[in-house]
Amino acid sequence: MSSPPVRYSRSVLRRWTLSICASAFIFISCNSRAAYRVNEHGADRSIRPGDDFYLYTNGAWLQGVTIPIGRASYDTRAIVNEKTSQRVRDLIQEAAAAHAVSEGAAQKVGDYYASFMDEDAIEARKLTPLADEMARISEIANKESLSSYLGSTLNGEVEGLTANADHIFGLWINQGFEDTAHNVVHLWQGGLGMPDRDDYLASSPKLTELRAQYRAHIAAILKLAGVIDSDAKAARVLSLEVRIAKAFAPDADAADVFKQNNPGKRADFATKAPGMDWDAYFHSAGLAGQPDFIVWQPSAVTGVSALVQSENRELWKDYLRFHLIEHYANVLPMAIAAEHLAFYNTLLSRSDQRPDRTQSAIAATNGALGQAVGQLYTQRYFPPEAKAKAQAMAADLIAAYRTRISNLTWMSATTKAKALEKLTALEIIVGYPDEWIDYSTLNIERGDALGNMRRAEAFLRSRNLAKLRQPVDPIEWPILPQIPGAVIMFSPNAEFFSAGILQPPYFDAQGDAASNYGSAGAGMAHEISHSFDELGNIYNSHGRLGDWWTPEDRSQFHAAAAKLATQFDSDCPFADVCVNGKQVLSESVADQAGLLVAHDAYLLSLKGRPDIIIGGLTGEERFFLAFAQRWRIAQTEDALRRQLKTDTHPPGKYRSDSVRNVDAWYKVFGIAPGDKLYLRPKDRVRIW
Ligand SMILES: [Zn+2]
Repeated sequence: MSSPPVRYSRSVLRRWTLSICASAFIFISCNSRAAYRVNEHGADRSIRPGDDFYLYTNGAWLQGVTIPIGRASYDTRAIVNEKTSQRVRDLIQEAAAAHAVSEGAAQKVGDYYASFMDEDAIEARKLTPLADEMARISEIANKESLSSYLGSTLNGEVEGLTANADHIFGLWINQGFEDTAHNVVHLWQGGLGMPDRDDYLASSPKLTELRAQYRAHIAAILKLAGVIDSDAKAARVLSLEVRIAKAFAPDADAADVFKQNNPGKRADFATKAPGMDWDAYFHSAGLAGQPDFIVWQPSAVTGVSALVQSENRELWKDYLRFHLIEHYANVLPMAIAAEHLAFYNTLLSRSDQRPDRTQSAIAATNGALGQAVGQLYTQRYFPPEAKAKAQAMAADLIAAYRTRISNLTWMSATTKAKALEKLTALEIIVGYPDEWIDYSTLNIERGDALGNMRRAEAFLRSRNLAKLRQPVDPIEWPILPQIPGAVIMFSPNAEFFSAGILQPPYFDAQGDAASNYGSAGAGMAHEISHSFDELGNIYNSHGRLGDWWTPEDRSQFHAAAAKLATQFDSDCPFADVCVNGKQVLSESVADQAGLLVAHDAYLLSLKGRPDIIIGGLTGEERFFLAFAQRWRIAQTEDALRRQLKTDTHPPGKYRSDSVRNVDAWYKVFGIAPGDKLYLRPKDRVRIW
């Protein structure tokens, strides 16, 4: 039942299933409408473009920018996030102030937010809104009623990226890895209050201390809930979580989807994972008739099921009381909410800054009514004309990929046919859903914060379960339109680019097309390439799991890419540290693909018309400048060194240098031998 609202589980990138390539989507460009006025927008024309294209484009911006206090870096992505957060905040607060009576999106959004903010009403109700569920926990008398209660907590709180569901197991309804025609239940590990397995198991002094603080936090919450002997009980609850953590899959397994593809039949649970009363569990979970499951971490299912059998029932009840309070802490009286925040936001996120109530309320409203907020957002900021422009750009990118893939030299003919089939089936969805979630059956009442949250969870749960009886919907939105971002759903086969990311300076529907293609277009094309590279080559056109490259494709691809790794190896921002070409190779290949394909697509968009001049610059000049601008970033030395060590994306400057492998760039800017970035034609990397 975690909510829709604020979730503390760490989201990890499930490399092969659902890849949020967020940092690859940092397209930094100046406002595209003004992109041609590069001098006023951060360029440094004292630099020769062929010597340092990044500084030529961004030098003045870099000189003038200050990294805000408390941050390690600052870039256009940060600016867009700030601007968008403010817009969402304003929209939600306006809806709350308008206090609409009609049952539309604005009423639900406004009342949800206002109730969350009404701390007096929350205080006055004390713990009574949870009395019924606390009583259900107290009534647990045997394994059947324990299993039944645990089943009632199963909800859609994971989505292919989550490491730890909020409850003992998490549920994700998606197509099967092999049976792509039907939605099945994906079952996840969960039930830990701290996000990582290591938080429970590692023996470092730091984590030992964290566990002591967590135990104190459990005790504090139990005490506030009126549980006697809370210190001793807290120690036992922690020990139960340690045993749950031991059953978790090792973190390394999270990167390999083949290890998570464990199809199972409902009938097998009792023999393969004895302990839990699975009939009772699945009945109360609403899954009594469900035959097929995919168990992502079998060790967690067998481990937890055994604990249901072996552990003291009173201990389970304390564990459940603690997690119930914790789950609703934000909409419970101040003392509980403050204790919750103190542990999660201060200690666990290791930051001194607690979010204010407003931030929590906005996050909760987005979580419960995300698409209702998205509707309000796009009505104001991303009209249908903007969507049409972005769709037209996506269509040009796909057309450009069709030609590029057909002409690849490293991919065999049979593999090309499969790639083209996948390209044809690929759905590129931009802006917002064509069909919004219908929230009309979700009752949101002003003044009932906890009731609203529960009803929103129940709504999500029944929507989720209904999907088991519906055909696979490849274009169901996995992200919110009002949050800047992009998601690749390898399974099924779709990519989503939110209205939040498709805004100036990345994309401007009324602005200069050349800049849009060079900035947002190159970002989208980068993401699309992942569906055909070593991330996407294990999912076919329907998102079915299975490698569709041949060993020859793979070795030829690696041979073609090796030259790019060598280029990056000689990029050294510090005397003692260079870029690790191998570490950044996969993302750099995608950058290269993104740039080339976006350039092709820009030329296609001209449909034979001449390239117009704006501000003395040709379209192709504006295209490449917008590309280099999207990578502008100011970061501290520490941040840059950390990036070099751990990030799979190279620093912005070197991403901007992708231009040196593109023949058109040489022509457009008159780059010649002797220029520092000059590469002989035979040294330019050609993969896509
Ligand atoms: Zn990427």
